[in-house]
This record gives sequence, C-alpha cells and structure tokens, in this order.
Amino acid sequence: MTFAIHGLAVARGIAIGRAVLVASSRVDVAHYFITADQIDAEIDRVRRGRNAVIDEIHRLQRSIVHMGPKEAPHELTALLDVHLMLLQDEELIQGVKQWIAERLYNAEWALTSQLEVIARQFDEMEDDYLRERKADMEQIAEKVLAAMKGLSSPLASPVARQARRATAQDLLLDDTQDVPLILVAHDLSPSDMLQFKQSVFAGFVTDVGGRTSHTAIVARSMDIPAVVGARLSSQLIRQDDWVVIDGDAGVVIVDPSAIILAEYGFKQRQGEIERGRLSRLLHTPAVTLDGEKIELLANIEMPEDALAAVKAGAVGVGLFRSEFLFMGRQGKLPDEDEQYQAYRRAIEGMQGLPVTIRTVDIGADKPLDKSAREDAHLNPALGLRAIRWSLADPDMFLTQLRAILRAASFGRVNLLIPMLAHASEIRQTLSLIDHARAQLDNLGQVYGELRIGAMIEIPAAALTLRTFLKYFDFLSIGTNDLIQYTLAIDRADESVAHLYDPLHPAVLALVAGTIAECNRQGKGVSVCGEMAGDVAMTRLLLGLGLRSFSMHPAQILAVKQEVLRADTRRLRSWADQVIADEDPASRITSL
Ligand code: PEP
Ligand code: MG
Repeated sequence: MTFAIHGLAVARGIAIGRAVLVASSRVDVAHYFITADQIDAEIDRVRRGRNAVIDEIHRLQRSIVHMGPKEAPHELTALLDVHLMLLQDEELIQGVKQWIAERLYNAEWALTSQLEVIARQFDEMEDDYLRERKADMEQIAEKVLAAMKGLSSPLASPVARQARRATAQDLLLDDTQDVPLILVAHDLSPSDMLQFKQSVFAGFVTDVGGRTSHTAIVARSMDIPAVVGARLSSQLIRQDDWVVIDGDAGVVIVDPSAIILAEYGFKQRQGEIERGRLSRLLHTPAVTLDGEKIELLANIEMPEDALAAVKAGAVGVGLFRSEFLFMGRQGKLPDEDEQYQAYRRAIEGMQGLPVTIRTVDIGADKPLDKSAREDAHLNPALGLRAIRWSLADPDMFLTQLRAILRAASFGRVNLLIPMLAHASEIRQTLSLIDHARAQLDNLGQVYGELRIGAMIEIPAAALTLRTFLKYFDFLSIGTNDLIQYTLAIDRADESVAHLYDPLHPAVLALVAGTIAECNRQGKGVSVCGEMAGDVAMTRLLLGLGLRSFSMHPAQILAVKQEVLRADTRRLRSWADQVIADEDPASRITSL
C-alpha cells in the first residue's frame, strides 16, 4: 500500500530505490560495503562471533550445574536455554548470510539488519511471552557484536559499488542487480554520514534532525536527495521497500504506485535537464548585471572535497570544517603531522585558490564519537563547543594551529575561529596563535602567512563588531548558528524546525549590520552558513551588500544563476524595505 511520510527537505532532487535500514543498535556499529572476495571471510567472522557467545553460554551452564538452586535460579537456566536457541535460529543465520552475500554489507551491519527484520516479527506477535523474546534476541545480537569486535575485519570499502542516480525504470527491472539504495535511519551522526559520503546511496531519510543539523549539512554536500525529521520513517519503512524521496518537498513515498512513479520519473528527468542547463554556467564569471564581482566559495568537510569545489567553479574554499578530521576516532585525535598532511592536501587540491580553514568545532550535534553524544551535557549547543573546547585544551589547539601554519606555506590560507563571543576569548586565541608560531620558530620549522578571521555566529558577536573588527582581518557569518542562538531554536531539533526562521527580522538585522559594518571599514565579510547556498536568499544578501558567499559545491551554479540576473543598484533599497518589514518573508518575492 502506498503511503507518504512528511519531513524536512534538506537536499534537492528525486531519488527512487530500495530502502536500506540502518538499525539503531545500542552497540556502536560500523556500516560499510565489503567486496565480493571478502564475503566468505565476513560470514566466517559472524560465525566465529556467534560460536564465541555459544561457548560462553555453555561455560556458564556448566558452572551452574555445581550451584545450588539459590545461586542459580530456574529463570537463569531457562534464559540461557532461550539464548542458545535464538543463537541457533536458522532465520537469523540465513538472513545474516544473505545481507552479506547479496548486499555486500559488513558483518555487523548484516547482523543488525537481520535483527531489525526479526524484531519486527516479534513486535507483531500476539503472544506476550513470545513478544518479550525480542529483548533476548537484541541481547544476544549485542553479545555477538561485542565478540566480533575482537575479530579482524577487512578494511572498510565504502566505494565497493558505484553510486548512480535511480530512475523510475529501475522498478521495472530485475531488482536483485545494481538497484539504487536509499538509506533509512532513526538518526545518523555527522561521522556516520561521512562514512557514507563516498558510498552507493542514492538518497537518505532520517526520523530526526533539523534543516541545518550537521547531518543534513553533510547530506547536502553529498548532493543526493534527502529528507530529515521524517518521524517514524525508520519504523514505518521496512528493509527493501521501494521508496521515492522528494528532496524538494520533503516527502518520502513508500511503496509507490505506477502513477506516482511515472510522475516522479518525470520530475526526475526535469531535474536532470535543469542540472544540464546550469552546467553551462561553469566558466561564466559571477558578475551581476551592474558589474559587481561576486565571490562564490565552497564549503568542504574533507581535503578530498577540494576536487568537487574546483569542478564546481568555486574560486576558493570559504569554510573547511576541520572537525570532520577529528570525528569517529574513538578519542584518538589526529596528531600534528596527520593534520598538516590533510590541510596540505586541501590547499594543494585548490590549485592556488585560497582556502579558509576553520579550527575545530566539536560539540553540540558534532560529537567526537557517537558514544560521546549520550554523555553530552543537557544543553550541548550552549556548552563546551568550538573555540571553547579548543581553549579548554590548549595543547590540542596548539597542535592544530601549528599544523595549519605549516600547511599555509603551500598556498593562500585563511584561519577562521568559530563561536567567539568574548573579547577575552579573542585575546586568548590570538595569543595562542602567536605561541604556535613561536614554537615553530624554536623548532626551525617553516610556516606560512595567515589571514585571521572570526565567525559571527552568536548574537553577542554581531552586537560587538567593533571589538571583532579591531582584532580580525575578516569576518564570516555562520547563519546556521546565528539563527539558532538568536531565536533559541535548536537547529538539530525537528520538533521546533518550523520556528527556525532565517528571515526573522532579528536575524536579518544582525546579518545586515555585520555586512554593513565590515563594508564600511573595508574588511572582508562572507556568509558561510546554509543561507549562502539558498537561492531564495541570494538577492536579499546581494542587496544587503554581501559580495562573498560560501556554500556546498553543488549549490554554486544555481546561486551563480541568481547573481547573473541580479542588479545590486535595484536590490539595495528593496533589501532595506525587506529587513524593515515585520514579516520579511512576505516581501522577499515582491521584487
Ligand atoms: C554556521 O553556523 O553557519 C556554520 C557555517 O558553521 P556550522 O554549520 O559548522 O556550525
Ligand atoms: Mg556554526
């Protein structure tokens, strides 16, 4: 039966494919594709993990024989019998083998996927006793996962198969071969997303998350259709269901009928035609009708993204989110040399174009590791995040600063500091940068020149620009956080996503004030939040005097098209009227 789930649109386009559910196991599980020659080894890993748990249960049973009924109550013996029975369950074993052999899932992923299938069957059982066995099944699966942790695994192979765009025709094809896959999950951490970045998925859906949550941001950078905040989708959609993602409308259609498919097939083709049309603008300079040159820069998460930035015609990197180098490493942070190599790769990848490296912004919805999320403070967005985290650990910060300084001798590098609010933080940061230079001098290490900038993403910063402009060479407006902190709306919380409003007059006043003050003082200013890549905002930002935009590479051509059609002389007075209105959204289409 066809049904639709509504969520938040985060990345444009239509995707059609089969659902791959990523189970939200309590154990931190890796998800990656293996290669065909690794199938047997991977099945063997599950077998050995399972046998280790069976041996463990047998050992326990033997020790129980020697105990009296007090120490070993009947319930315990019965429970162990149930666990043994479940471990030998044919459906579990066969299912896991199938996920590995047919889908090339790694062992842990295969086990949690099959667990999900079985858990649903338990949920549907009438009998209370049997329904409660679901918890036992989960327990034994977690034991097997824990046992497998000690067993060596083939290296993750995230590009075992090539991603391709799905077409409606795929539904009519033999779907055991090369079917586009849609990732469905309750939640995905930014580091999970990164793991999937080079992978096969044609689109993804999550139950939770806001439009500018970091998970959504990584999805946008992957340029695949995505919907977040589609509550219950991971419960309503089943493994292998056919799904259509409408990334423009924020809708997920499950089990689509032939008519719906035809309609989305048409929309998909329209999208491809539009992309083709935009690609003709690649070599066109971004200049407005009245001759204003506009700088279109790229946001990147990993050094390898520099390639996409250059290909999209970016004139530099306006935001390299360096924290992605630090995530998902079980607390073992990259050392100076590893960081230096990564920054250098990004700089060299940009082939002489400038690169703005932001110092680490860990915290809030970007934990170092998934498990760290659970220990997070009650209000992580207001906690030890970004520069606060760096200043709390000067050795870690100095390591990063030295790595960036050294890499800066290979190109034009800007250093960007996130989430500053206090003059004392600014002074402390600048003195640590001096200290890092002095350390390199002492070691006789070569390093390069840096322009140093600050992000304006806390209202306090936007309201004390004089201090910021006194110390920094340029400013970059992080609208994602500026909106979050101005409106007190958690950007990752889908339940308040309807109040997350880039066009709120208070937000616009802070953005407009920052641009105007920088322009007045002749200091560089850019916007690097998601607002910069939103074509609905381009004219307004141009009218407010912005000349530098930083966004995902995939958004550059669409924004360029807006720039080419704009006349900033006309936009100036219109923009003033928009920001003075109590309801700017009603005016934005009125030019
Ligand atoms: C922002 O806050 O707008 C920004 C660009 O930084 P991030 O999204 O990484 O917090
Ligand atoms: Mg930010």
